[in-house]
This record gives sequence, C-alpha cells and structure tokens, in this order.
Amino acid sequence: MSTTMMGGSPGGVMVADGQGGMALDRSGGDLQARGPEARGGHPFAAHWARICARLQLEVGEVEYRTWLRQMTLGAVDQDEITLYLPTRFLRDWVRSQYGDRLGALWNAEVAEIRRVELALAPDHSANARPEPPEDGMTASEPRPAMAASLPGPSSAFTPVVEKNSDLAAPLDPRFSFDGFVVGKPNEFAYACARRVAERPSSPGFNPLFLYGGVGLGKTHLMHAVGLELTRPDRSGGAVSVAYMSAEKFMYRFIAAIRSQQTMEFKEQLRSVDVLMIDDLQFLIGKDNTQEEFFHTFNALVDAGKQIVVSADKSPSDLSGLEDRLRTRLGCGMVADIHATTFELRISILEAKAQASGVAVPPKVLEFLAHKITTNVRELEGALNRLIAHANLFGRPVTLEATQEVLHDILKAHDRRVTIEEIQRKVSEHWNIRLTDMSSARRARAVARPRQVAMYLSKQLTSRSLPEIGRKFGNRDHTTVMHAVSRVQELMTTDSAFAEDVELLRRMLES
Ligand code: ADP
Ligand code: MG
Repeated sequence: MSTTMMGGSPGGVMVADGQGGMALDRSGGDLQARGPEARGGHPFAAHWARICARLQLEVGEVEYRTWLRQMTLGAVDQDEITLYLPTRFLRDWVRSQYGDRLGALWNAEVAEIRRVELALAPDHSANARPEPPEDGMTASEPRPAMAASLPGPSSAFTPVVEKNSDLAAPLDPRFSFDGFVVGKPNEFAYACARRVAERPSSPGFNPLFLYGGVGLGKTHLMHAVGLELTRPDRSGGAVSVAYMSAEKFMYRFIAAIRSQQTMEFKEQLRSVDVLMIDDLQFLIGKDNTQEEFFHTFNALVDAGKQIVVSADKSPSDLSGLEDRLRTRLGCGMVADIHATTFELRISILEAKAQASGVAVPPKVLEFLAHKITTNVRELEGALNRLIAHANLFGRPVTLEATQEVLHDILKAHDRRVTIEEIQRKVSEHWNIRLTDMSSARRARAVARPRQVAMYLSKQLTSRSLPEIGRKFGNRDHTTVMHAVSRVQELMTTDSAFAEDVELLRRMLES
C-alpha cells in the first residue's frame, strides 16, 4: 500500500475518518483549504497546502485537476502520512504516477515524514463531491478551475438521475450556459443547445448532433443542456438526464453482457428523458455497441425522449458508423462548432480572467490568444497556470512572467517564423496595408512599421541583410541595417514603442 520513498518498514494501522482531509481548491482564484482542516484542524494542513500548490505548478493545471485535486489529508502515524483518494482507480493511478514525488515533497516539507500511504477514503460516499467512475474512463473531463461567478459544486451539483447514478457521469456545474462564451464560431451550436434545453424533444431538434474539433466546447454545451434541464427550480427537477461518453456507454454495455444484465442495462437507458452521448466517434468499428446504441436511440426517440450526441465530425463524415445510424443521427439538428477566432479567444480569456479575480493585462491576454490557437482547453490551462502562479507568489501578471511560467506550453506552440508572417503581424498591429511593407512610400506611418518588421526579421529569422532587403521591395542591405539601428535606438528612448516591439517579438518568437 505504501509508497516507499527512502526505505523503512510499513507504518502502523491508519486511523482516520477519510473526511478530515483538505485539498487545494480555488474559488475566485484564492488558494483555499477544503474540509474541516480549513478551520485549522489538521496539524499538517499548512504543509499540505504548500505541497498541493507545488504539485499544481509542477504538473500543470489540467493534470492536477484530473488526478490530484481530490486527494485529502489523513492521519499521521510516526513517519508515515496517509492521503486519501475517493476511488480505487484514482488511488492506483496517483500511487503509480505521483507516489515518489509526493513522498519527496512531504519529506522536504516535514523531515520526519518518510513514507506516504495512498489509501481509499473509508467513507467517500459522505463526500459531496462528484466521484469519477471506477473505470476512470469517463469522469467529467478536466474541469475549468475558474468560474467564480458560477455556483459552487455544493449548491448546484446535480446527481444525474439518482436511480441511474452508476449509469451516467455527473454533470459539472461549471459547464453551464452562463459559463460559456458565445462568439461567431459557436453561436449556432449554442443557440441549438439552448433551444433543446428550453424545449426538449421538439422534432426539428431531435437528435441534436454537435460536432467540432477537440476542446471547442462540445462537452461543455452538453453539460449545460443537462444542467439546465435538471435545475431544481424547473419542472421540479423531475427530468432525468443521462450523460455519458460513448466510451463509457460501451464499457457499461460490455459489463452488462458479462454479468448477464443486458435487460437491466437496456431498461435503465430507456427510462431516461434525455440521453446524451459524448464523443460518438469512439463507437466506430465497435459494431455490437453501435447496434445497441442504435436500438436505444430508436426506442427513446419513438418514446418522445431527447437525444444529444457529440462527435468530432459531422454524421456524413463519420465513415465507419453504420449507415442507418448515420442517417438517423442526421435527422434532427446538426450543429457545427468551428475553430476559435482571435476575437473569441480574447473574449474567453477575458471572462475567465475576470472570474478569477486576478488582474491580467490586456497585452498578456492578446499574447496568449495569439500564441495558443488550437483549442480552448489549452488556452484555459495556460491562463489558469498564470493565475495560480500569481496567487501563489503574489506577483502581478506581466508578459515576462507569462513567458517564464508558460515556457513549456509556449514552446510546444512555437514554430519557425517567416518574414512574411512578421510583415503580416506588424502591418496588422499598426493597421497599414501589407503591400506597404514593400512599397516605396516613405511616410512615417508606413516607414516606421516597415523598419520594425525589418528589425524583427533580423532578430527572429536567420536571413541575411540582403535577403531581408529583397523581401521588403528589393531594398538595399544598408537600408535594413539602418532600420535595425534606428529601431534599437527608438526602443531606448520611447518606452511605449519599445513595448509594442516587444509584444510583437513575443508573439512571433520561435
Ligand atoms: P470538447 O468537448 O469539444 O473537446 P470541452 O467542452 O471539453 O471541449 O471544452 C474544453 C474546455 O474549454 C472546457 O473547460 C470548457 O469549459 C472550455 N470552453 C470551450 N469553449 C468554451 C467557451 N465558448 N466558453 C467558455 N469555456 C469554453
Ligand atoms: Mg468533449
């Protein structure tokens, strides 16, 4: 059971109630102890808070939230401390992946502690937090840590259909409509989701099929629909909603076959008012599960129940799904979530930064929105890490700090910068035409940005001065040399200018 860090024999019997733990939680961006220890009960609460904060920085926000956040503090017995996890799966995972690190961190905090025991919380059912399923396949996806304006887990957590609690995954209260930032790329999908939440089972919207790339908000919107439908103040909360990933659907189905309980499984599924299956593409090639889903689907739709499905492609592009299922999936409303735009990324960052209560300068938000363009999850992860760092060290968020703290993330997003890219970014920044980069115009409003672009080309690419000159309307290499020294000079005398150049450089830098 124990994670041995530096030898020694197993410790004695653990005596702990399993709820006396604390964990690092953040609401409104503050680092807080959770549980009774928040009031100072556990003698090691302060140490634990520091260790959690360290871990959070080391492993990153998403990983921390996914695996470590639910750890709670148990008893100390001589040189051994017990940490609790709510499920067997989490306990085993944390033990294998983080056991040694936890040991080392504890030992560094409290020299007497030489062993860390990872145990299953004795009575985690009394714990109000949603519990990921044992198979660990479909626990709610990594959650956004920041949404201070949204109701906390205790007030809004809705156990999805009590009677089906082992069938479906819990809905994450932070994935609400309120927490979803709407922009051009997702407004249609958002409107459809809203519509289904307001009036489920309308013919034109059943099934609702949401599709789009990774991390663009499909799961968020599905949870939002479920949360809205099960709001206690709405129809007495009587609507039963089952949300699960296609993967979990399959595992449950297989488990039902093994234990000869397929009838029960079918009945359970057919008894819900709304069935939501996330990431349907997972069923490609899983013919028996597809078949089962197809029948469930038909039974529910025929009974006037709502289906919501998500996938990474449109029904027609999901080759590998049975034709009849594909056809039926396309019969209701099919809504596409497009890749994010710069504007949407900025809006999302602004909303999340504001909710965190940490002041993040617009330049930093712009920088992030330029750098991390692939998906919202990564964008959010980066911002959360910045905020955690700011909270921890009480330092203001600056561009420099951002580069430092997000070094690894930014590196992954880096690519080789080209002169064309530099010209484009610089023109956009000063609102001049791209063609003016190579035009003969000498007006200051055009010449200055052109000089900056030359300077950045020299700094950020390996091109020679004559090569750079050629890309700027066949100018001479001495013109480029002059531009470089002129920009350097200006940067020392004009701090606003220097900041602009610096921002551009950071945006472009590889
Ligand atoms: P998908 O299921 O499409 O892969 P998710 O729904 O899991 O993506 O979204 C990834 C993360 O990004 C989640 O934390 C989600 O809350 C967040 N997110 C995505 N889109 C938005 C949005 N428009 N507004 C706010 N948060 C968003
Ligand atoms: Mg998803």
